[in-house]
Amino acid sequence: MHFLKKAIKIIFSFCIYYLRLDALLYRCIKKSGTTVLLYHSVNPSTIVPNAVGLCISPKRFERHIRYLAKRCNIIPISEMVACLENNKPLPANSVAITLDDGFGDNFKYAFPILKKYRSSALIFLISDIINTSRLPWLLEFYQRMRFAGAKHLSIDLAKAVPAANDVFGTEREIDLPLVTSGQRCKATLELRKILKKLPEVPRQQLLSAIYEKITLDQNSVQSDNFRMLSWDEIRSMRQHGIEFGAHSRNHANLLKFSEADLWDELIISKQRIEENLKEAVTTFAFPGYASTNKSPEVDALLKRAGYRGCMSDVNLVDGINGSTTNPFDIRRIEILEPTFMLAGELVYYRFFRDYIKK
Ligand SMILES: [Zn+2]
Repeated sequence: MHFLKKAIKIIFSFCIYYLRLDALLYRCIKKSGTTVLLYHSVNPSTIVPNAVGLCISPKRFERHIRYLAKRCNIIPISEMVACLENNKPLPANSVAITLDDGFGDNFKYAFPILKKYRSSALIFLISDIINTSRLPWLLEFYQRMRFAGAKHLSIDLAKAVPAANDVFGTEREIDLPLVTSGQRCKATLELRKILKKLPEVPRQQLLSAIYEKITLDQNSVQSDNFRMLSWDEIRSMRQHGIEFGAHSRNHANLLKFSEADLWDELIISKQRIEENLKEAVTTFAFPGYASTNKSPEVDALLKRAGYRGCMSDVNLVDGINGSTTNPFDIRRIEILEPTFMLAGELVYYRFFRDYIKK
């Protein structure tokens, strides 16, 4: 079934793109609504396992932006939020571009492409990691797994993280070979599944236990490939119209936080960016997996902190935003596939999904 669905999607996208049905649809049907696209790292190399996504090559990113500039109406997120606040219809056939986390490659590779096609974009920054040599915890984990010195990893989970025994069930012993790149990739995905289930403190404990055992082969780490943006790069992009939003302080799972701690995250990440940009930051994006249980109380907290818009979790709600979309629950889609697949997805969400779902 999954295979059939995928095949239909490919054939549909292929026809839309190569028969130029997209051009026809966009010309004939001026449908209000904004599709917000999500990217992360734009980089010719990657430390991330293929199955995870997260990275797009600069070549493919340029093809995406060229396509969007030609077929759609690229608008800034600030314009979209202003429409939603004032109950104004969103511009017809519009898309908005967002990049999460604030990787240094956004400046090196994505920014020249955005400039070339005069495309707006909004980058969500992890305030405490920006301008440092640190990486978000998941990226650091990928990097250490990729360049592990050890050929093998065995951990007794119950011993390494006693506080989280109930999360692991019967799978208490981890025993993973790390010799080939395939084995490293498989191990990375398996451990990632466990790490994502854990609250902050036990996750840190398990990460420390893993790092102690696998050691990092410093010689093979390509240091410049994955780093975060500097404030100078951020300011330089801002001068050219790129917008910035907050994406928490450290990319933790915020909805497991107490209200007081969540408040700190919302307000401190906002202030730190504002101090460096000398202007108000009004958009927030919860770190990847965090908005599962976002409640109206969280919306109220966001508003009180001075935010005007918030992105919802890409894995939970996707598709197109209409005039009735809650500005604190803006939907996004992440497409890292070739341009014809992007074309197909955009057309599907804009013109067909409502009919197919009914
Ligand atoms: Zn993120």
